[in-house]
Amino acid sequence: MKLKTVVVGLLEENCYILEDNNKCIIIDPGAEFEKIKSNIECDVVGILITHYHDDHIGALEDFKKMYKLNENDYNIDGFNFEVISTPGHTSDSKTYYFKDYNIMFTGDFLFHNSIGRMDLPTGSVGDMKKSLEKIFKYPLDTIIYPGHGDKSTLKNEIDIYY
Ligand SMILES: [Zn+2]
Repeated sequence: MKLKTVVVGLLEENCYILEDNNKCIIIDPGAEFEKIKSNIECDVVGILITHYHDDHIGALEDFKKMYKLNENDYNIDGFNFEVISTPGHTSDSKTYYFKDYNIMFTGDFLFHNSIGRMDLPTGSVGDMKKSLEKIFKYPLDTIIYPGHGDKSTLKNEIDIYY
C-alpha cells in the first residue's frame, strides 16, 4: 500500500491518493484538479468524500467527468473499508476506515491535536461528542489522516480528550 498526500487550495486541504495493486482511491479532491491528476500513477477506481464543504470537493466534478465514477460507491474493487458516520463538524461528515492498512480518513472531524469546528451550518457539539465516543472504540493504534494538517493516531487524540 502506498499513500500520497497532495495539499491543495487556499485552505491547504489534504487530498489523499491511496494506492494498492496499481489501483487507487482518491479521498477529498478539494481543488487543483491538474495538480492531483499529475500525482496519480494508477487506475482510479473510486473517489471518497468525507463531507461536502467546498475545500474538500472543489475538483470533484472534474474527476467525475474524467472517470465517470460515483463518489458514493462503497464497494470499490480491491479496497475494503468501513464508512463510519461521524457528524459534528457537519451532519454529513464521514470517516473511512481501512482496517487492512490500519488507517482512517477523518476529514474535518478529527485532526492532529484538535477536532473540527462546530459553529458552521449543521455543526453540533452534541453530535461531535457522540462521534468521538464512537471513534475511540476503534483500535487506538489506528493512524488518522485528517482533512488538514499532519497525521495522528487515535491514541494521541484520546489522550487529549479524555
Ligand atoms: Zn469542512
